Amino acid sequence: MKRIAFFDTKPYDMHFFKIYSGDYDIMYFEDKLTMKTVHLAKGYDGVCVFVNDTLNSETINKLIEYNIEIIALRCAGYNNVDVKTAHKKIHIVRVPSYSPNAVAEHAMALLLTLNRKTHKAYSRTRDFNFSLNGLTGFDMFEKTVGIIGTGKIGLIFANICKGFGMNVIAYDIYPNKLLDIKYLSLDELLSESDINSIHCPLSEKTKYMINDESISKMKDGVYLINTSRGGVIDSLALLRGLKSGKIKGSGLDVYEEESNIFFEDMSDTIINDDTLSLLLSSPNVIITSHQAFFTKEALEKIVTTTFSNIQEIFEKGECENEVKK
Ligand code: NAD
Repeated sequence: MKRIAFFDTKPYDMHFFKIYSGDYDIMYFEDKLTMKTVHLAKGYDGVCVFVNDTLNSETINKLIEYNIEIIALRCAGYNNVDVKTAHKKIHIVRVPSYSPNAVAEHAMALLLTLNRKTHKAYSRTRDFNFSLNGLTGFDMFEKTVGIIGTGKIGLIFANICKGFGMNVIAYDIYPNKLLDIKYLSLDELLSESDINSIHCPLSEKTKYMINDESISKMKDGVYLINTSRGGVIDSLALLRGLKSGKIKGSGLDVYEEESNIFFEDMSDTIINDDTLSLLLSSPNVIITSHQAFFTKEALEKIVTTTFSNIQEIFEKGECENEVKK
Protein backbone atom coordinates (compact mmCIF):
# COMPACT_ATOMS: atom_id res chain seq x y z
CA MET A 1 0.00 0.00 0.00
CA LYS A 2 1.45 3.38 -1.02
CA ARG A 3 1.96 5.84 1.81
CA ILE A 4 1.21 9.54 1.49
CA ALA A 5 2.26 12.30 3.90
CA PHE A 6 -0.46 14.94 3.87
CA PHE A 7 0.64 18.41 4.96
CA ASP A 8 -1.25 21.48 6.21
CA THR A 9 -4.30 19.35 7.05
CA LYS A 10 -7.51 21.06 8.05
CA PRO A 11 -10.59 19.21 9.41
CA TYR A 12 -12.49 19.70 6.14
CA ASP A 13 -9.55 18.19 4.15
CA MET A 14 -9.56 15.12 6.34
CA HIS A 15 -13.34 14.77 6.09
CA PHE A 16 -13.32 14.68 2.27
CA PHE A 17 -10.00 12.84 1.74
CA LYS A 18 -10.94 10.03 4.17
CA ILE A 19 -14.06 9.28 2.11
CA TYR A 20 -12.01 8.58 -1.03
CA SER A 21 -8.64 7.36 0.38
CA GLY A 22 -9.29 3.73 -0.70
CA ASP A 23 -5.95 2.08 -1.46
CA TYR A 24 -3.72 4.66 0.20
CA ASP A 25 -2.26 4.85 3.68
CA ILE A 26 -2.41 8.55 4.50
CA MET A 27 -0.85 10.29 7.46
CA TYR A 28 -2.40 13.71 8.07
CA PHE A 29 0.00 16.33 9.46
CA GLU A 30 -1.29 19.71 10.60
CA ASP A 31 2.11 21.30 9.92
CA LYS A 32 2.85 22.98 6.64
CA LEU A 33 5.63 21.43 4.61
CA THR A 34 8.78 23.50 5.19
CA MET A 35 12.45 22.75 5.68
CA LYS A 36 11.69 22.30 9.40
CA THR A 37 8.94 19.72 8.84
CA VAL A 38 10.18 17.94 5.71
CA HIS A 39 11.65 15.11 7.87
CA LEU A 40 8.04 14.00 8.51
CA ALA A 41 7.90 12.83 4.88
CA LYS A 42 10.65 10.23 5.45
CA GLY A 43 9.38 6.72 4.72
CA TYR A 44 6.46 7.88 2.59
CA ASP A 45 6.03 7.45 -1.18
CA GLY A 46 4.41 10.80 -1.82
CA VAL A 47 3.43 14.10 -0.26
CA CYS A 48 0.16 15.96 -0.66
CA VAL A 49 0.42 19.74 -0.27
CA PHE A 50 -1.54 22.97 -0.61
CA VAL A 51 -1.00 26.60 -1.61
CA ASN A 52 1.08 27.74 1.36
CA ASP A 53 3.44 24.78 1.72
CA THR A 54 7.06 25.63 0.88
CA LEU A 55 8.40 23.63 -2.03
CA ASN A 56 11.61 25.50 -2.76
CA SER A 57 14.74 23.79 -4.04
CA GLU A 58 15.97 23.00 -0.52
CA THR A 59 12.76 21.19 0.48
CA ILE A 60 12.44 19.41 -2.84
CA ASN A 61 16.04 18.17 -2.65
CA LYS A 62 15.21 16.70 0.77
CA LEU A 63 12.12 14.99 -0.68
CA ILE A 64 14.30 13.55 -3.47
CA GLU A 65 16.77 12.29 -0.84
CA TYR A 66 13.83 10.55 0.94
CA ASN A 67 12.85 8.86 -2.37
CA ILE A 68 9.51 10.65 -2.53
CA GLU A 69 8.05 9.88 -5.95
CA ILE A 70 5.28 12.43 -6.14
CA ILE A 71 4.28 15.88 -4.94
CA ALA A 72 0.50 16.01 -5.26
CA LEU A 73 -0.72 19.58 -5.14
CA ARG A 74 -4.36 19.75 -4.09
CA CYS A 75 -4.70 23.12 -5.83
CA ALA A 76 -4.30 24.64 -9.28
CA GLY A 77 -1.55 27.25 -8.78
CA TYR A 78 2.03 25.98 -8.44
CA ASN A 79 3.87 29.28 -7.91
CA ASN A 80 5.11 27.87 -4.56
CA VAL A 81 6.93 24.97 -6.26
CA ASP A 82 10.46 25.03 -7.66
CA VAL A 83 9.60 22.99 -10.74
CA LYS A 84 13.18 23.20 -12.05
CA THR A 85 14.66 21.35 -9.05
CA ALA A 86 12.04 18.62 -9.30
CA HIS A 87 12.53 18.15 -13.05
CA LYS A 88 12.90 14.43 -13.92
CA LYS A 89 13.49 13.57 -10.26
CA ILE A 90 10.06 13.81 -8.71
CA HIS A 91 6.61 14.03 -10.28
CA ILE A 92 4.50 17.11 -9.56
CA VAL A 93 0.78 16.86 -10.19
CA ARG A 94 -1.94 19.43 -9.60
CA VAL A 95 -5.69 19.90 -9.83
CA PRO A 96 -5.90 22.30 -12.77
CA SER A 97 -9.55 23.06 -12.29
CA TYR A 98 -11.81 22.24 -9.36
CA SER A 99 -14.57 24.72 -9.55
CA PRO A 100 -13.93 27.77 -11.65
CA ASN A 101 -17.58 28.60 -10.92
CA ALA A 102 -16.87 28.75 -7.18
CA VAL A 103 -14.05 31.29 -7.64
CA ALA A 104 -15.89 33.42 -10.20
CA GLU A 105 -19.00 33.46 -8.01
CA HIS A 106 -16.91 34.53 -5.01
CA ALA A 107 -15.37 37.36 -7.03
CA MET A 108 -18.90 38.58 -7.76
CA ALA A 109 -19.84 38.16 -4.08
CA LEU A 110 -16.92 40.42 -3.11
CA LEU A 111 -17.93 42.99 -5.70
CA LEU A 112 -21.60 42.99 -4.67
CA THR A 113 -20.70 43.27 -1.00
CA LEU A 114 -18.30 46.17 -1.62
CA ASN A 115 -20.80 47.97 -3.80
CA ARG A 116 -24.02 47.42 -1.83
CA LYS A 117 -22.35 47.26 1.61
CA THR A 118 -24.44 44.32 2.78
CA HIS A 119 -21.74 43.48 5.36
CA LYS A 120 -22.32 46.86 7.01
CA ALA A 121 -26.10 46.63 6.72
CA TYR A 122 -26.02 43.18 8.36
CA SER A 123 -24.14 44.52 11.40
CA ARG A 124 -26.29 47.64 11.59
CA THR A 125 -29.70 46.00 11.54
CA ARG A 126 -28.62 43.44 14.15
CA ASP A 127 -27.93 46.47 16.33
CA PHE A 128 -31.39 47.91 15.51
CA ASN A 129 -29.69 50.64 13.46
CA PHE A 130 -31.87 51.03 10.37
CA SER A 131 -30.16 54.14 8.99
CA LEU A 132 -29.09 54.10 5.32
CA ASN A 133 -26.41 56.75 5.72
CA GLY A 134 -23.20 55.75 3.96
CA LEU A 135 -24.71 52.68 2.29
CA THR A 136 -25.18 54.15 -1.20
CA GLY A 137 -24.06 51.83 -3.99
CA PHE A 138 -24.31 52.08 -7.76
CA ASP A 139 -26.18 50.12 -10.43
CA MET A 140 -23.86 47.48 -11.89
CA PHE A 141 -25.93 47.56 -15.08
CA GLU A 142 -23.92 49.15 -17.94
CA LYS A 143 -20.81 49.67 -15.78
CA THR A 144 -17.55 48.57 -17.38
CA VAL A 145 -15.72 45.64 -15.82
CA GLY A 146 -12.14 44.93 -16.90
CA ILE A 147 -11.09 41.30 -16.53
CA ILE A 148 -7.38 40.52 -16.33
CA GLY A 149 -6.92 36.88 -17.35
CA THR A 150 -9.78 35.19 -19.16
CA GLY A 151 -9.01 31.50 -18.62
CA LYS A 152 -11.45 29.16 -16.92
CA ILE A 153 -12.34 31.50 -14.03
CA GLY A 154 -12.16 34.78 -15.96
CA LEU A 155 -14.46 33.34 -18.64
CA ILE A 156 -17.15 32.44 -16.08
CA PHE A 157 -16.77 35.77 -14.31
CA ALA A 158 -17.20 37.53 -17.67
CA ASN A 159 -20.43 35.62 -18.28
CA ILE A 160 -21.72 36.42 -14.78
CA CYS A 161 -21.00 40.12 -15.42
CA LYS A 162 -22.78 39.93 -18.77
CA GLY A 163 -25.80 38.59 -16.88
CA PHE A 164 -25.80 41.81 -14.88
CA GLY A 165 -25.88 43.79 -18.14
CA MET A 166 -22.34 45.06 -17.61
CA ASN A 167 -19.97 46.08 -20.36
CA VAL A 168 -17.17 43.49 -20.24
CA ILE A 169 -13.64 44.16 -21.54
CA ALA A 170 -10.52 42.07 -21.01
CA TYR A 171 -6.76 41.80 -21.11
CA ASP A 172 -5.01 38.47 -21.59
CA ILE A 173 -1.81 37.44 -23.33
CA TYR A 174 -3.86 34.61 -24.91
CA PRO A 175 -7.40 35.88 -25.65
CA ASN A 176 -10.09 33.27 -25.04
CA LYS A 177 -11.83 32.24 -28.27
CA LEU A 178 -14.93 31.22 -26.29
CA LEU A 179 -15.50 34.83 -25.26
CA ASP A 180 -17.12 37.40 -27.48
CA ILE A 181 -15.74 40.54 -25.84
CA LYS A 182 -13.32 43.37 -26.59
CA TYR A 183 -9.67 42.64 -25.72
CA LEU A 184 -7.48 45.65 -24.96
CA SER A 185 -3.95 46.30 -23.76
CA LEU A 186 -3.57 46.41 -19.97
CA ASP A 187 -3.21 50.19 -19.97
CA GLU A 188 -6.32 50.66 -22.11
CA LEU A 189 -8.29 48.27 -19.92
CA LEU A 190 -7.27 50.07 -16.73
CA SER A 191 -8.22 53.46 -18.15
CA GLU A 192 -11.70 52.29 -19.23
CA SER A 193 -12.87 50.07 -16.35
CA ASP A 194 -15.08 51.01 -13.41
CA ILE A 195 -14.16 47.69 -11.85
CA ASN A 196 -11.05 45.56 -12.36
CA SER A 197 -11.04 41.88 -11.49
CA ILE A 198 -7.85 39.81 -11.57
CA HIS A 199 -7.93 36.20 -12.79
CA CYS A 200 -4.43 35.54 -14.15
CA PRO A 201 -1.84 33.33 -12.42
CA LEU A 202 1.07 34.67 -10.39
CA SER A 203 4.25 34.46 -12.43
CA GLU A 204 7.42 36.47 -12.94
CA LYS A 205 5.46 38.49 -15.50
CA THR A 206 2.40 39.15 -13.35
CA LYS A 207 4.17 39.77 -10.02
CA TYR A 208 3.15 43.31 -8.94
CA MET A 209 1.28 43.84 -12.21
CA ILE A 210 -0.87 46.17 -10.11
CA ASN A 211 1.56 48.74 -8.78
CA ASP A 212 1.73 52.54 -8.32
CA GLU A 213 2.13 53.07 -12.06
CA SER A 214 -0.74 50.84 -13.16
CA ILE A 215 -2.97 52.23 -10.39
CA SER A 216 -2.29 55.75 -11.68
CA LYS A 217 -3.71 54.64 -15.05
CA MET A 218 -7.00 53.49 -13.52
CA LYS A 219 -10.17 55.58 -13.50
CA ASP A 220 -10.77 57.59 -10.33
CA GLY A 221 -12.96 55.73 -7.84
CA VAL A 222 -12.40 52.28 -9.32
CA TYR A 223 -13.13 48.99 -7.53
CA LEU A 224 -10.41 46.32 -7.54
CA ILE A 225 -11.16 42.65 -6.97
CA ASN A 226 -8.48 39.98 -6.61
CA THR A 227 -9.24 36.27 -6.29
CA SER A 228 -6.09 35.09 -8.12
CA ARG A 229 -2.87 35.35 -6.11
CA GLY A 230 -1.84 38.10 -3.69
CA GLY A 231 1.53 38.74 -5.35
CA VAL A 232 -0.15 40.14 -8.46
CA ILE A 233 -0.84 43.29 -6.42
CA ASP A 234 1.77 45.43 -4.67
CA SER A 235 -0.16 45.77 -1.39
CA LEU A 236 1.59 48.99 -0.35
CA ALA A 237 0.69 50.56 -3.71
CA LEU A 238 -2.90 49.38 -3.15
CA LEU A 239 -2.93 51.08 0.26
CA ARG A 240 -1.67 54.30 -1.34
CA GLY A 241 -4.36 54.03 -4.03
CA LEU A 242 -7.05 53.52 -1.38
CA LYS A 243 -5.75 56.41 0.71
CA SER A 244 -5.77 58.81 -2.23
CA GLY A 245 -9.29 57.74 -3.24
CA LYS A 246 -8.11 56.57 -6.66
CA ILE A 247 -9.32 53.13 -5.61
CA LYS A 248 -12.75 53.39 -4.02
CA GLY A 249 -12.76 49.91 -2.62
CA SER A 250 -11.09 46.55 -2.89
CA GLY A 251 -12.26 42.97 -2.42
CA LEU A 252 -9.36 40.60 -1.79
CA ASP A 253 -9.49 36.85 -1.36
CA VAL A 254 -5.71 36.61 -1.50
CA TYR A 255 -2.82 38.58 -0.03
CA GLU A 256 0.85 38.51 -0.95
CA GLU A 257 1.99 37.60 2.57
CA GLU A 258 -0.90 35.29 3.41
CA SER A 259 1.07 32.09 3.86
CA ASN A 260 1.32 31.95 7.67
CA ILE A 261 -1.92 33.79 8.32
CA PHE A 262 -4.72 32.71 6.03
CA PHE A 263 -6.56 29.47 6.88
CA GLU A 264 -5.54 29.89 10.55
CA ASP A 265 -7.50 31.18 13.55
CA MET A 266 -5.33 34.11 14.67
CA SER A 267 -8.08 35.82 16.67
CA ASP A 268 -6.04 35.86 19.88
CA THR A 269 -2.80 36.94 18.22
CA ILE A 270 -1.34 40.35 17.39
CA ILE A 271 -0.68 40.14 13.67
CA ASN A 272 2.84 41.20 12.85
CA ASP A 273 1.97 42.57 9.44
CA ASP A 274 1.21 46.29 9.35
CA THR A 275 0.16 46.25 5.70
CA LEU A 276 -2.47 43.59 6.33
CA SER A 277 -3.62 45.38 9.50
CA LEU A 278 -4.05 48.63 7.56
CA LEU A 279 -5.97 46.87 4.79
CA LEU A 280 -8.21 45.15 7.34
CA SER A 281 -8.93 48.40 9.11
CA SER A 282 -9.92 50.18 5.88
CA PRO A 283 -13.72 50.45 5.76
CA ASN A 284 -13.67 50.06 1.98
CA VAL A 285 -11.66 46.81 1.92
CA ILE A 286 -13.12 43.35 2.27
CA ILE A 287 -10.73 40.49 2.84
CA THR A 288 -11.68 36.84 2.76
CA SER A 289 -9.19 34.15 3.68
CA HIS A 290 -8.46 32.47 0.33
CA GLN A 291 -11.92 30.92 0.40
CA ALA A 292 -13.06 31.60 -3.15
CA PHE A 293 -12.66 27.92 -4.07
CA PHE A 294 -14.35 26.69 -0.91
CA THR A 295 -17.51 24.89 -2.01
CA LYS A 296 -18.57 21.28 -1.52
CA GLU A 297 -18.34 20.66 -5.27
CA ALA A 298 -14.81 22.05 -5.45
CA LEU A 299 -13.61 20.04 -2.45
CA GLU A 300 -14.98 16.81 -3.95
CA LYS A 301 -13.30 17.58 -7.29
CA ILE A 302 -10.00 18.34 -5.53
CA VAL A 303 -10.10 15.01 -3.70
CA THR A 304 -11.08 12.84 -6.67
CA THR A 305 -8.61 14.50 -9.05
CA THR A 306 -5.78 14.31 -6.49
CA PHE A 307 -6.33 10.57 -6.04
CA SER A 308 -6.58 9.89 -9.76
CA ASN A 309 -3.39 11.93 -10.33
CA ILE A 310 -1.55 9.91 -7.67
CA GLN A 311 -2.86 6.63 -9.09
CA GLU A 312 -1.81 7.51 -12.66
CA ILE A 313 1.71 8.38 -11.57
CA PHE A 314 2.14 5.23 -9.48
CA GLU A 315 0.59 2.96 -12.14
CA LYS A 316 1.69 4.55 -15.43
CA GLY A 317 4.46 6.96 -14.47
CA GLU A 318 2.66 9.78 -16.22
CA CYS A 319 -0.41 11.92 -15.79
CA GLU A 320 -2.07 14.62 -17.83
CA ASN A 321 -2.13 16.92 -14.78
CA GLU A 322 1.63 16.73 -14.35
CA VAL A 323 3.43 20.07 -13.99
CA LYS A 324 6.48 20.08 -16.23
CA LYS A 325 9.39 22.50 -16.44
P1 NAD B 1 -6.38 29.52 -16.33
O1 NAD B 1 -5.02 28.98 -16.57
O2 NAD B 1 -7.56 28.80 -16.92
O3 NAD B 1 -6.46 31.04 -16.82
C1 NAD B 1 -5.44 31.98 -16.56
C2 NAD B 1 -5.48 33.01 -17.64
O4 NAD B 1 -4.51 34.01 -17.34
C3 NAD B 1 -5.12 32.44 -19.03
O5 NAD B 1 -6.08 32.83 -20.00
C4 NAD B 1 -3.76 33.06 -19.32
O6 NAD B 1 -3.54 33.30 -20.70
C5 NAD B 1 -3.86 34.36 -18.53
N1 NAD B 1 -2.53 34.93 -18.28
C6 NAD B 1 -1.38 34.28 -17.99
N2 NAD B 1 -0.37 35.17 -17.88
C7 NAD B 1 -0.91 36.39 -18.09
C8 NAD B 1 -0.38 37.69 -18.13
N3 NAD B 1 0.94 37.91 -17.93
N4 NAD B 1 -1.21 38.72 -18.38
C9 NAD B 1 -2.53 38.50 -18.63
N5 NAD B 1 -3.10 37.28 -18.61
C10 NAD B 1 -2.30 36.23 -18.35
O7 NAD B 1 -6.51 29.63 -14.76
P2 NAD B 1 -7.86 29.73 -13.90
O8 NAD B 1 -8.33 28.38 -13.55
O9 NAD B 1 -8.79 30.67 -14.57
O10 NAD B 1 -7.28 30.37 -12.56
C11 NAD B 1 -6.72 31.67 -12.53
C12 NAD B 1 -5.97 31.87 -11.23
O11 NAD B 1 -6.91 31.89 -10.15
C13 NAD B 1 -5.02 30.71 -10.86
O12 NAD B 1 -3.76 30.87 -11.46
C14 NAD B 1 -4.93 30.80 -9.37
O13 NAD B 1 -3.82 31.59 -9.02
C15 NAD B 1 -6.22 31.52 -8.97
N6 NAD B 1 -7.11 30.66 -8.19
C16 NAD B 1 -7.55 31.15 -6.99
C17 NAD B 1 -8.41 30.39 -6.21
C18 NAD B 1 -8.95 30.91 -4.90
O14 NAD B 1 -9.53 30.15 -4.13
N7 NAD B 1 -8.82 32.21 -4.62
C19 NAD B 1 -8.81 29.12 -6.65
C20 NAD B 1 -8.35 28.66 -7.88
C21 NAD B 1 -7.50 29.44 -8.65
